[in-house]
Amino acid sequence: MIVILQPDIDKNGAEYREIVDFLSAKSDITMRFHEEIGTQQTLTEVYLVGNTASLDRDEIESFPGVDRVVRVSREYRVIGRHRDDTRTVGFEYNGVYFGQENLQIFAGLCAVDTPQHVEEMMRALRDHGQVCTRMGAYKPRTSPYAFQGHGKDCLPYVFELAGKYGIKVIAMEITHEDHIDQINEALEQTGRPTGVLLQIGTRNTQNFELLKNVGRQREFPVLLKRGFGITLEESLNAAEYLASEGNRKIIFGLRGMKTNMGDPHRNFVDFAHVPVIKRLTRMPVCIDPSHSVGSRDRAPDGLLDVHHVTAQGVIAGANMILVDFHPNPATALVDGPQALTLEELPFFLEDVQIARTAYEQRRERAQAAGMETAAR
Ligand code: PEP
Ligand code: MN
Repeated sequence: MIVILQPDIDKNGAEYREIVDFLSAKSDITMRFHEEIGTQQTLTEVYLVGNTASLDRDEIESFPGVDRVVRVSREYRVIGRHRDDTRTVGFEYNGVYFGQENLQIFAGLCAVDTPQHVEEMMRALRDHGQVCTRMGAYKPRTSPYAFQGHGKDCLPYVFELAGKYGIKVIAMEITHEDHIDQINEALEQTGRPTGVLLQIGTRNTQNFELLKNVGRQREFPVLLKRGFGITLEESLNAAEYLASEGNRKIIFGLRGMKTNMGDPHRNFVDFAHVPVIKRLTRMPVCIDPSHSVGSRDRAPDGLLDVHHVTAQGVIAGANMILVDFHPNPATALVDGPQALTLEELPFFLEDVQIARTAYEQRRERAQAAGMETAAR
């Protein structure tokens, strides 16, 4: 059960004391407080764990300090979508909005290699009206002898160039909590010209200590990739780890599942789960067509498989696309074979727009037919 207190409630006031004293007196219930500090108001939520069946919802709602009460299903208390749950979905970070209704595109380098390539990539994004990108600095690689990413050494020039080209958010994978400090230091050193979306890769989806550390910080939002060899429920519980530690700014990323049933794609494309994640949780959903498909294979209609699966995810309502581009894929140090080129950027963006428009039309038709209310 979640007890949502009146916005901006005074913690020293009588109304706050009254409800907290009432709940504290219940011996079989424990309380966990969460504060969401927004631009307009601060919301305090009290998560009740234990024998909540014994609690009378109407009685709790009658306290003057209480705005409303939400009964939660056992799973995904924080990230879940519950009955009568009107808690907000989505968040803003560095001027960019992430929610379940809109779409953001993060085209960029799988791995940062040279400052020239970073600059060429960002210039192309700026020229096509893009304000987000992906830039890998810490790369988890299958072989210990493969290029592991430039790490903290590349951060200052990546951030400075982002500032120069108006990039507001960079998706960047971290594999250790020390990387958060390194990113923070480099941002500080360069005058905070951009923002960073911390990415937790598929190999770390169940690295619980990393999840707890990333969840405890509230500075950076998080893109959590689905684990490639675990159930959806296990991956959603990983997201709940982040949220239960305090960070609610989480985007859930689909990137394909590891099984030879997906051959010849690198991973079995799982974008049919876009609406499933939206139904089960309040997280925006990202699709990663590059790591799903893993090649530049082309269908007889002329479109790349990467284009096709991107459109499939977008027409199903995806909220973010993470996609590999490179100015010269032949020289890319990581995942060159799946990267699109800068010349292919305008075609890709237009193709996405076609699929997005189709999704919006489908949503409007569902609303007009009254199907949306049936889903609540
Ligand atoms: C990536 O996005 O660069 C990446 C390594 O993705 P994943 O963790 O999904 O393999
Ligand atoms: Mn990659």
